[in-house]
Amino acid sequence: MVVVGAGFAGGSLLRNLPAPLRRPSETLLVDRADEHAFIPLIHEVAVGRVHPDTVRLPVASAADDHAFLRTEALGVDLGEKVLRTSSGDVSYEYLVLAPGSVAVPPPRASATASRPSGASTTR
Ligand SMILES: Cc1cc2nc3c(=O)[nH]c(=O)nc-3n(C[C@H](O)[C@H](O)[C@H](O)COP(=O)(O)OP(=O)(O)OC[C@H]3O[C@@H](n4cnc5c(N)ncnc54)[C@H](O)[C@@H]3O)c2cc1C
Repeated sequence: MVVVGAGFAGGSLLRNLPAPLRRPSETLLVDRADEHAFIPLIHEVAVGRVHPDTVRLPVASAADDHAFLRTEALGVDLGEKVLRTSSGDVSYEYLVLAPGSVAVPPPRASATASRPSGASTTR
């Protein structure tokens, strides 16, 4: 099994794999970073209540006893069952994609059009 993303989803999945799928020697965790930020506490860092090191977790802790490859996932060949990465191709039997999401702010024009009278938009 290959798991892309060592965030909350990927890490949780690895820690909770059912016994028949729990094969650490055949499981590979892929992430482009070697650290994971504990985002829910980031506001405490911003106001100086928590040291930045407190919210930085090594990806190895999510990997547990599974192998970890630090690389960027670029695409998937579903027919060949191959994950394309910046370090080369990785074959898989099962593939889990857990790369998180990217916030996309609403377009400025529509935000302006739909805002209630008296409200302002901050970017
Ligand atoms: C400011 C803030 C506060 C939040 N507070 C809370 C809270 O209090 N409670 C709560 O439940 N949720 C909170 N959330 C939401 C929570 O952080 C997300 O729901 C959660 O991080 C999503 O987990 P995930 O595993 O899907 O993605 P992520 O945690 O983002 O992990 C994705 C992983 O995939 C990796 N990755 C991405 N693309 C690639 C690629 N192409 N190749 C290789 N690796 C890749 C990334 O490096 C990352 O490690 C908050 C979010 C923010 C921004």
